[in-house]
This record gives sequence, C-alpha cells and structure tokens, in this order.
Amino acid sequence: MEAFLNEVGGWAASQLEACTRCGICAAACPFYAASKDPQVAPIWKLDLLRRAYEQRSTLLGKLKVSLHLEKPVRQADLEHWRDLNFSACSTCNRCSVTCPMGIAIGPLLHELRDRLAEAGAVPESLMRMRATVEKDNNVFGFPADERAGWVDYMDDPPDDLYQRQHAEVVYFVGCVSSFAPRAQRIAESFVHILDAAGVNFTILGGSEVCCGFPLRAAGMKADAEALIRKNISAVWASGARTVVFTCPACRLMWLEEYHERMPGVLLLHSTEMIADLIEAERLKLKDLQTSVTYHDPCDLARTGGVFEAPRTVLRAIPGVELREVAERRKSGLCCGGGGDVEMVNPLGVKQVAQATANKLSQPGADMLVTACPQCTRVLEEGMKKVKPEMKVLDITEIVARALEVS
Ligand code: SF4
Ligand code: SF4
Repeated sequence: MEAFLNEVGGWAASQLEACTRCGICAAACPFYAASKDPQVAPIWKLDLLRRAYEQRSTLLGKLKVSLHLEKPVRQADLEHWRDLNFSACSTCNRCSVTCPMGIAIGPLLHELRDRLAEAGAVPESLMRMRATVEKDNNVFGFPADERAGWVDYMDDPPDDLYQRQHAEVVYFVGCVSSFAPRAQRIAESFVHILDAAGVNFTILGGSEVCCGFPLRAAGMKADAEALIRKNISAVWASGARTVVFTCPACRLMWLEEYHERMPGVLLLHSTEMIADLIEAERLKLKDLQTSVTYHDPCDLARTGGVFEAPRTVLRAIPGVELREVAERRKSGLCCGGGGDVEMVNPLGVKQVAQATANKLSQPGADMLVTACPQCTRVLEEGMKKVKPEMKVLDITEIVARALEVS
C-alpha cells in the first residue's frame, strides 16, 4: 500500500481535489442503488482516497490529522477501499456523467485500479484470472483449441467451419461468446446474419485469443500486450480490413489499445455492421409483431459512443415496437456484469442485475434486447427473478429471428 500511496498524484490528485462531496454521484451508481450501502457510493470510494492523498501530500491534510480533526487513514482503510473498488464497481461510468464538477470518476477509479495492481493489491480471484489467461488464452480456463467449438454444435455448419484463410471481414468472437453457453447463441446468430447478407468473413478459431480487456480492467494492462500482438498478427494474416465484434468490451479494447497499430483497419460493433447491411438492402427482415425495450450496454453506449445503430436496427424490423426507459443512451442503466466484478463479487452482480432488470421491465415490453453477451447473460438471470415471462435477447438474436431465411 505504501507504493500505492506514493503513486497518487498528478491528474488523479487534481480530480480528487475538485470533489465538493455533494453526493450526487451516489444516485447514479448501480451498486449503491442495489445495496443502499453508503460505502459503495462513488463519493465514499473517492473520499477515502482523497483523505489518503491529502494527509500524505498537503499541508491542510497534515494539519487536520495533527489537530485530531480527521482520523489518519490506515493501511486497513486502504485495503477496505481496494476491496470496494474491485468488488462494487463495474467501471460503468454512470457516476462521471452526473458529476456537476465534471470529475471523471469512472476513469479515475480505473486509473487507481492500475495503481493498486502496480502495488500488488489485487483480489486473489483476479490474480487467478491472470494466470488462466496466460495459460489458456481465455478467461474461462477452457483449452485454447476449443475456442471455435460452438460452430461444431450448430445445426448445419459450413465445411470450413467459418475458418477461411482470407476474408474481407474478421468476426472477433471474444471469450464470452466463444465459451459461455448462453452467449454462444449470439455468435451463432451473428454468423447466420453475415451469411444471409453475403458478407465475406472469417472467424479466427484457435488463432483468436482473449482481447485483454479483463486484464486491463484488473489494472494489469501490461499483461495484455502479448495477447494484443497475437490478435493483430492473426487479423493481418487473414487479409481483412474490417474487424467486427458482438462484444462491446472487446470493441472498446481494440479501439483503445489496438487501433493505432492497425492503420486502415475498420473496427465495428455488430449493430453498426447490421445497420449498414440493412441500409444497403442486403438483409430481408420479416414481421415479428412484438414490443421491445432496448438496454444500452455501458461499454457500447456511454463509453463506446454507439447509441443510434442498435435503435436503427430495431426500427428496421417490421412489427417491432420500441418502448424506451427514461434511463437510456448516456444515462443508460448498468447490468452490473462489467469491470471484472463477477469474478470478485458474483452476489453483488446478481443484486444489480435484478434491480436493473426490474427497471427495464417497467415499460411492459414483450422482450428486453441488448447488444452485449455479458449484459444478455447477466440480465437474463436477473429477469428470471423479476419477470420470468419477459425474454432477454441480444440484438443479433432478434435480427436472426427476423431473417426471412432463418
Ligand atoms: S458528484 Fe462529483 S463533486 Fe459530487 S460527490 Fe460525486 S464526485 Fe464529488
Ligand atoms: S463507475 Fe459505475 S459502478 Fe463504478 S462507482 Fe461509478 S457508477 Fe458506481
């Protein structure tokens, strides 16, 4: 922890100093909303750190302690804060959007995770995840050569199992849709859509490795470097100049950590590609006669900037009525399943997912549609407890249902 405290400075310190402790950010935090535990509110997470910084680096902070106006921050306080940060923050960034002082709370908490990791203060489960990714190239610990195993289970897969030597587009499937049974249906739906539109694409199979997002979220960005290099070389070998993702976290990781090294390569979320294919009249969609509430995934919308493409896709399906919630686009809700929290505090994620599913069920739509394998998995579980008759689908799944040839 000493090493960690020595690292708090510069941009992070200026952000911490700007906090007026108004508490507005608390209402935005999904973990606070679900638990009502004041220690989980962003203000608490920041306040403890701010006191630690002030007491160590500012005259006022030192004075407060020597005059007994403030208790000194102890090692145990910091370890408690470390636990809060990793077990009750999905890095959803909702708090930043509401802060009247414009404090980038989400990125600040993210940066501080980096500092904690540098100081070796990372939860044990995330250390195990790092070892798993290093050994198996995926977060689940499945054999790396089973990465495209989901294709074998499709009803009528092509002879080449979608693994082509050269293609115009690479579909980067990601760990969750490669291995989690619920999310594998998203990968299946997306390849059906690409086939229906006649897209010249490939998946990377055993040459695809974890994008590195879970390591970066754990503050261990440097450990993602080898993975980044492997994925980039697999894409170059395919000859593709477009990479498409069904996972918003993979897309974000590629945009922020890969893109500079891949000049001329277009990185798209599945919703952006499907919207383009619809506009180009390459997909024929049939009437579904259903109502839908759309959930904006944090890494796709608030952080990733994609708000319109999924709505364009949903509106293009005949017979689909879009029923929106007030908490959408930049202020969209959080499923709780991001930022590695599920590996540290699965119960906390379940609580958030149920609270979020409850809000998303309010417009009374037939189905909840999102655009992220993790949101789909987590919210489907949450919805079972709240409104079991409401279906939860990824957007690729509703589009696949609407395909005239499906
Ligand atoms: S909303 Fe901003 S200024 Fe207010 S407590 Fe939260 S971080 Fe501090
Ligand atoms: S990033 Fe999200 S989960 Fe983390 S403190 Fe802010 S609102 Fe809460």
